[in-house]
Amino acid sequence: MKILFATSEATPLIKTGGLADVSGSLPRTLRHQGDDVRLVLPAYPAVLKKVSQTEILTELQVPGHSGPVRILFAQVPGLQLPLYLVDAPGLFDREGNPYVDADGHDYPDNAQRFAAFCHAIVALALGHADRWRPDVVHCNDWQTGLVPALLSQEWQRPATVFTIHNLAYLGQFDRATFDALQLPAALWSPAGLEFHDNFAFIKGGIAFADMVTTVSPNYAREICQPQLGYGLDGLLRHRGDRLVGILNGIDGDVWNPATDPNLPAHFDANDLTGKAACKSALLQAFGLPERPGGLLFSHIGRLVSQKGADMIVAILPSLMAATETQLVILGSGDPKLETFLRSAAARYPDRVAVRIGYDEPLAHLIEAGSDVFLMPSRFEPCGLNQLYSLRYGTVPVVHRTGGLADTVADASSRALFEETATGFVFDHPDADGLWWATNRAIELHRRPAVWWEKLVRTCMRQDFDWRISAERYRALYRFALDQPAPTPIPEIISQP
Ligand code: ADP
Repeated sequence: MKILFATSEATPLIKTGGLADVSGSLPRTLRHQGDDVRLVLPAYPAVLKKVSQTEILTELQVPGHSGPVRILFAQVPGLQLPLYLVDAPGLFDREGNPYVDADGHDYPDNAQRFAAFCHAIVALALGHADRWRPDVVHCNDWQTGLVPALLSQEWQRPATVFTIHNLAYLGQFDRATFDALQLPAALWSPAGLEFHDNFAFIKGGIAFADMVTTVSPNYAREICQPQLGYGLDGLLRHRGDRLVGILNGIDGDVWNPATDPNLPAHFDANDLTGKAACKSALLQAFGLPERPGGLLFSHIGRLVSQKGADMIVAILPSLMAATETQLVILGSGDPKLETFLRSAAARYPDRVAVRIGYDEPLAHLIEAGSDVFLMPSRFEPCGLNQLYSLRYGTVPVVHRTGGLADTVADASSRALFEETATGFVFDHPDADGLWWATNRAIELHRRPAVWWEKLVRTCMRQDFDWRISAERYRALYRFALDQPAPTPIPEIISQP
């Protein structure tokens, strides 16, 4: 099968979150399994720096943007995937985060930037940019949401799949922007892109794709309910027979404690000795002293309300009342949360350390060197850090939501005894809920070491390799090809 995988970020080229991990590893796994997968990304400077050779395939004029939009074919050493880049002077040639400026504000022209990206993807999808023409276009998140909508207007088109990595980001803009983008007038309807007098890029994917997926089965159910549906739960329920949850995998080449080049020592489920050396290196990196019998907690993530770092700060007094505990945090995001975390760390200089920033090698060392990973996300489409934690024998403490509920089995007495437990799960996303689960981790750690070791080994035995989920995507692509979705019916879709 020929698959064009369209995304606004992909490791190792550019990354702000889990979308990049998925976009780096799913296409590569599919390709190893024999499919002809190609990637298309915006030509950010960070990406162009990694490219060894480019060839201009075509130059387009797209509606809503006055400058040229070029489609390049690029070679990246070691990427193992053919890569198309969309290069539009003035749109993507900005350093740093692809979506926000240095102060963390969305770029004011994001609609123009990603609409141009979508038009270029459509040109590739229809074979207007290269002789290669895909059978399936797999779009990801709002930045590519217009593609299924625009392709639905074509007589002969490839099948379309749209994956929701996080429904909280809709790509919502006003009517004036819709007009400025010169989008087809027919798309301005409740059955199309219109969304409460504005319009949302993500609706183009959800309403028009042949298949809609999200990144865990539980999140697929949750987004069909008002609480996590962001006003799109009616549409998602309507598309229920085309909506599937497929769990993300992890890239075993990048996240493997037995081979990870970011670690000072290696380990696996049979021999955990290297984990102690990683813990020492981690404490040293954060300037914390070693505590005999200590239990080291950690957290990595974007500092936004979704991820619940504020709940971690709220339980700090209780966590610090247990004498053996320490905590390290790595993250960046909301400046208020950053300040809040820094001042919390200053209160417990020997026990708590915070690193504000984005640091990939340090993220690997944290996963390897800590004992317990705190992930109190208020909602979590899939979550990757709990999967990395399991792989690295770092026991996750998670809120029972989205993919966290699908991937972590609570350490009840029975599950511990039967060796099926893989973490501590709580139901109420507040400080009491998080502390209840965290305290159970502390108490288990105080029991004879054999119990903790058993739990760690069960965590490490879990298999979240991409090859399993890649098979599911392949079956879904086939279904989308064999049974294209009918054009949406306005009256039905607009009903709540
Ligand atoms: P999301 O996509 O919502 O940010 P995920 O758990 O799905 O959350 O994926 C987050 C990814 O980003 C993980 O690979 C995680 O290690 C990484 N990450 C997040 N923040 C940082 C940071 N400050 N430094 C290094 N890696 C980070």
